[in-house]
Amino acid sequence: MRNRHDWTKRLGIAGIALLAAFSGLAGCQRNGTNTAQQQQNFKEMINSPPGLAGKVPSAPPPDRRDETTPAGGLMPTAAFSSETTDNLKLTPDGEEALLEDSAIRAAGVAPAAKAKPASNQALQRKYPSVLVMKGSGDKRQLALTFDDGPDRRFTPQVLEVLKKHGVKATFFMIGSRVQAHSDVAKRVADEGHVIGNHTFWHPKLYSESLDRLRWEATETDRVIEEAVGYKPKLFRAPYGGLTDEILQELGRMKYNVIGWSVDSLDWKQIPAETCIANVMKDVSPGGIVLMHSGGHWTEDLSGMVEALDRLIPMLRQDGYQFVTIPEMIETTASR
Ligand SMILES: [Zn+2]
Repeated sequence: MRNRHDWTKRLGIAGIALLAAFSGLAGCQRNGTNTAQQQQNFKEMINSPPGLAGKVPSAPPPDRRDETTPAGGLMPTAAFSSETTDNLKLTPDGEEALLEDSAIRAAGVAPAAKAKPASNQALQRKYPSVLVMKGSGDKRQLALTFDDGPDRRFTPQVLEVLKKHGVKATFFMIGSRVQAHSDVAKRVADEGHVIGNHTFWHPKLYSESLDRLRWEATETDRVIEEAVGYKPKLFRAPYGGLTDEILQELGRMKYNVIGWSVDSLDWKQIPAETCIANVMKDVSPGGIVLMHSGGHWTEDLSGMVEALDRLIPMLRQDGYQFVTIPEMIETTASR
């Protein structure tokens, strides 16, 4: 009897502790991460693999592969957790996202709403001063953009190819990776490329609260500023997944939100020829080209690296000039 009583008591205490933990999480979701403690809790939570929230603060975030097609369709994604930020699970795009985020969901934070992203084309017409999908087309210019870095495998290779051809590009970086590879981020900036904000953990923003959006954007600004000395003016949403509310908020935060008009589909680990054909098919003056300088650690982007090396001279032969996004749309790199 005594034993049973003790266990009941212990279970009761455990239950209260659990309730307290969950109400803490709910508060974090509802009110945003306004205090340092909340922010720390949130960080530990999203750093931990399922079932280990708070116990393994150095474990990686959930992550995804970009992006939407210009028409706004979404890619299937999968959830993943492992040991380092290089092991971020980044899975392909193309259709509606199928799976739930792993660690954040497992840690008990529900999405704010089961929202669907809006068509980027429609949003662009509605918010032309905030969302850019393409340059004006008056000049024969192209902007190469690289998402999901920095990493130590492909970002340095991309930098070598760009240096070889004397091209400046725009890199949309994931904050957690900037934190892990700040020296690579600094090298990107030192070599004359522009850095944009691509959120901290690469969530589907349209399924999250505006508080979470602000946290993702601000935290990424902070680590980018720490690494390279400025807060980015440019923002690209993971999967290109946007809604009216997200765009309005990003506009209030004074970002230029950048989409793309040409998708290399490099994340499919395709041969260089296929990657080149994908780009050549849709390229036009003012084009913004989507490529990736990082991915899941099992992913081989070497087809993209070779394609890049061959595409630059081909496109120059066609009369194209390579510019950064701020040059193309006449904005600044920082804000
Ligand atoms: Zn991405």
